[in-house]
Amino acid sequence: MKCSGCSLEGDKYTLFNCDSCGITKCKECGNFTASEEKCFALLKRKVILYCPQCREDTGNIDTLMQKNRKLKQEINILKENKTSHQKICDENSAMIKTEDMKTYIISLEEKIKNLQKDSKTNEQQNIEYNVKLKQKDSENNNLLAKIDQLKDTLEKTQLKYRNTQDECDKLKEKMTI
Ligand SMILES: [Zn+2]
Ligand SMILES: [Zn+2]
Repeated sequence: MKCSGCSLEGDKYTLFNCDSCGITKCKECGNFTASEEKCFALLKRKVILYCPQCREDTGNIDTLMQKNRKLKQEINILKENKTSHQKICDENSAMIKTEDMKTYIISLEEKIKNLQKDSKTNEQQNIEYNVKLKQKDSENNNLLAKIDQLKDTLEKTQLKYRNTQDECDKLKEKMTI
């Protein structure tokens, strides 16, 4: 057996094969304690012994696990951010909907303005109609007055006719006598 670090020749009591990678290290190169060295040759060991590289790697596992935990935390924070961002997005789309409503309201306001214009035109026409109606009304009244006059004249003429007829009858009676 030979140490992979310092090439020291030895046996199972002085050199150790790493439990993980199997590389051979002496006490010095493996950074083993004296009590660990005593375990080298034991067939039923309770302690697991690693070479420095494997110890570092195992330590790295802890570091990696720590990093993993941090990453998980970061992921959670990002998820929260995403949720709040989604909220903002939803709010924005709601705003866009509000913009649509604004456009709709503007178009309605234009329609109302047009209706008001129409209403004014109608009112104007109504006033014109009323003026015409009054004119027609007074014309009608004039006609009625003329009819009354004519009736009056007719009555007078009829009366005259009757008187004339009476006179005529009287004359006829006288002539018969
Ligand atoms: Zn060595
Ligand atoms: Zn190793």
